[in-house]
Amino acid sequence: MLYDNHGREMTYLRLAVTDRCNLRCFYCMPEDGIHYLPEKQLLTWEEMLRIVQQLYVLGLRKVRITGGEPLIRQGIMEFLEKLSRLEGLEVCLTSNGVLLEKHIPQLQALGIRSINLSLDSLDRQRFHQITRRDDFDVVYSAMMRLIEADFKVKINAVVMEGKNDQDIIPLAQLTEKYPISVRFIEEMPFNGSGKGPAVLKWDFIKIADHLKAHFGNMPVMDAAYGETALRYQIPGFKGDVGVIAAFSRTFCGTCNRIRLTAMGEVKTCLYDDGVFDLKAFIRQGVSDEEIRQTFITLFGNRPKDGFEAEKNRKGIINESMTSIGG
Ligand code: SAM
Repeated sequence: MLYDNHGREMTYLRLAVTDRCNLRCFYCMPEDGIHYLPEKQLLTWEEMLRIVQQLYVLGLRKVRITGGEPLIRQGIMEFLEKLSRLEGLEVCLTSNGVLLEKHIPQLQALGIRSINLSLDSLDRQRFHQITRRDDFDVVYSAMMRLIEADFKVKINAVVMEGKNDQDIIPLAQLTEKYPISVRFIEEMPFNGSGKGPAVLKWDFIKIADHLKAHFGNMPVMDAAYGETALRYQIPGFKGDVGVIAAFSRTFCGTCNRIRLTAMGEVKTCLYDDGVFDLKAFIRQGVSDEEIRQTFITLFGNRPKDGFEAEKNRKGIINESMTSIGG
């Protein structure tokens, strides 16, 4: 079993399989995109599978495939199929939903049950303004298909002053009728510009207060180990709502996440700037044992929280979430 130096069990990998995306969300990257990596600077599918297999030996129980937009990299479904053969490993996917609908039957057949869908607005025009693409209808339709097909659906919405704060209540209202989780996330400085949001107007407390002001008393739900969202059940609703203090970083104490970026950098915290170039290491021809030992060493030197990790960075935060994986 892989533990960090603070006694946290490292059982969950977030694996970014590409840095490319088919949306241009303004809080994530500039309008003309980021400087995408050439294909050979990305981990290959074989390299990624090997890394997952070694972490599986070390007790990995869950892998979430992210990006960029994972569904735009060719070979993704074959890769998911290989991952789904690792018995006892929960394979999950995070997507913006644009290309999702046609893959739903195959995802279902592979036993992939948990899908995170990023959706910041239920208004077509605001969706367009935020993502700089006119794809609301296809994303909404994919969400409905996932619900009909009984997937465990989590909607993730980043809350931004004057951009989609009017969407908080309508998004939360989805949980009245549907057994899904709608989670509101604090905006983080990972927007590819080197400049964070001027002031975080919507922190997790303000978001929760806003929900309570509208829906009244909302009992807090029990949290599973490693849970980042503070979840509430609105009485009588089928689903639940959550707030994620991604910038305030209140949940680091139970963080069980290992992160691997599309270019093969290991991150022991979302806020570090990459602690090890695993791709270069693997390409030297190292053994499986050496890969496992590397993870043991890296997580034996993990900062205690996201503030310490940020302090240890060599430079300011100027990367985009699309290359980190979120
Ligand atoms: N393309 C996939 C998707 O849309 O879910 C996976 C990658 S995307 C980078 C992962 C998540 O990061 C999305 O929910 C997105 O909204 C979130 N994200 C991107 N930039 C962010 C920022 N600056 N602050 C907070 N969340 C951000």
